[in-house]
Amino acid sequence: MRDDLDIVPAFPKVINIETTNRCNLNCVICPRHDAMNRPVGDMMWTLFQRVIDEIAASSVPGSPPTIGLHLFGEPLLHPDLLRQIRYVKTVLPTSGLYLSTNVALLRGTLAEGLASSLLDWIVLSLDGATKETYERVRRGASFDTAVANVRGFLEMLERQGTDDMHVWVQLVAADEGLTGEVEQFYQTWGSWEKRLPRMRVVIKPATDWAGQVPITPVEGSDEKENIPRPGRCRRVVEQLNVYWNGEVTACCYDVGGLLKVGSVQEESLAAIWHGSQMTFLREVFRQGKQRRLPLCRTCEDAG
Ligand code: SF4
Repeated sequence: MRDDLDIVPAFPKVINIETTNRCNLNCVICPRHDAMNRPVGDMMWTLFQRVIDEIAASSVPGSPPTIGLHLFGEPLLHPDLLRQIRYVKTVLPTSGLYLSTNVALLRGTLAEGLASSLLDWIVLSLDGATKETYERVRRGASFDTAVANVRGFLEMLERQGTDDMHVWVQLVAADEGLTGEVEQFYQTWGSWEKRLPRMRVVIKPATDWAGQVPITPVEGSDEKENIPRPGRCRRVVEQLNVYWNGEVTACCYDVGGLLKVGSVQEESLAAIWHGSQMTFLREVFRQGKQRRLPLCRTCEDAG
């Protein structure tokens, strides 16, 4: 019996919003291409507003959840992205707000808008230090464009004197090729850590997304990673994830909706958080029977 799951906060600590589940790439390390059997689309502005308004109304005073503007799609594809950021920061000014991008579209006025936005944290996923590896992993992307976009964005932040946005330039240590490029990745991007106080080169452990992507673990790669692996799963007392059409899942690995717990089209996020389906999932975890759940059964975080 797990007693670390007994305390259920009044509202989730993290809410990820899938503003779109469209993507411009087809990366080998992403579960989206094999497991995405949901319809593809963008979140409507009225639904986005409703979700943010509801978070504002239900949050614990002084402790609003962190909000991610991504889940299983590329957030820069959504035409309302800058408007979404402005709205979150107007209605929930003290919420941490972050997103992760594959950087293919991080240029021009969109990049300028993001650089001057109130985003707290942006992850720039590069996943390769060489053209050969990058284009093998990030199928459909150009290495030269990605590097130019990341460099251009960092230069924009430097020019603007932006020193309070956390920026991660990230490599996922997914297989032999990537792990072998860690030193080179640091060499290329490490000097930026001195130029921008909150920029960090991040080597992230590979995940197989609960068994949905065939990742080959590389012996000894843990020593290279500077982000700790997540411990035993506590997502059922920490997070909710809203798909673009309003459906809600308990897990940020859930591409296909196997752990769906409701829809904000039918009930509030607070009602879903305290509702029967989340309560059932928590009880399964408390009893240590999570391996009986779809998705958790093949997940390395299940414990
Ligand atoms: S154990 Fe289940 S809920 Fe936790 S990360 Fe894995 S699939 Fe998600």
